Amino acid sequence: MHPNNNAVLATLPSSEYQGLQSKLTLVSLTRGQTLIDMGESPTQVYFPVGAIVSMINELPDGQTIELHMLGRTCLVGVAALDVPSFYRATVRVSGLAYRLPMSELLSLRERCPTYFIEAQKRTGLLMSHIAQRATCISYHKVEQQLVRWMILMLDRLFDDVIQVTHSELASLIGTRREAVTMALGSLARQGLIEMNRGSIRVPNRAALEMISCDCYWNALGIAHPSLRAASDRNHAQLKVLESV
Ligand SMILES: [Zn+2]
Repeated sequence: MHPNNNAVLATLPSSEYQGLQSKLTLVSLTRGQTLIDMGESPTQVYFPVGAIVSMINELPDGQTIELHMLGRTCLVGVAALDVPSFYRATVRVSGLAYRLPMSELLSLRERCPTYFIEAQKRTGLLMSHIAQRATCISYHKVEQQLVRWMILMLDRLFDDVIQVTHSELASLIGTRREAVTMALGSLARQGLIEMNRGSIRVPNRAALEMISCDCYWNALGIAHPSLRAASDRNHAQLKVLESV
């Protein structure tokens, strides 16, 4: 797997990329592995090229909630601020990543404007996703939160099958397992997902997108697919009128 499969590394100017190559180590990450703990100042950062990592917040009573998930468009670490981590980075999907000492990343940030701008952009997008996650928890049903989570996961997977149990989903969403089972059952009856032991298959992502709440789309600054479909229809009707 080439480092360029990670979008952050792919944006580096070739001179910087060449200089960094000898410092990057390809590592295999295992589901459940903790890369960075809450409050820890990371000494390494990770550029996933197949692995998917959850940003987890843990409450004093042991309850957890997932803030966001990081895949091949991201880096895992504290990219823009030299502060202790506000999340625990736990591997959600096993796979490969490139590891880089934090000192190299900080040096890169200081000397490479392209990387600095990219880091700022990605930090802004990350904050946008976390803000929408907070909105989703407050205003949307468990079913909608699960749909948003599955779409985010599909963005980061090379597959349409998500390896996850109902208990894990309850922990990630921050709700009871029974509520997750009920919501997934509803999605399965609508033909939007297929459930197997320990996994969920999404046969038609576009159908899932159509019933999603706005939170995923707002974070990306994109109109909801149902609005885009209406806009496309209007555009098509205008074209017909113009051609008459
Ligand atoms: Zn939502």
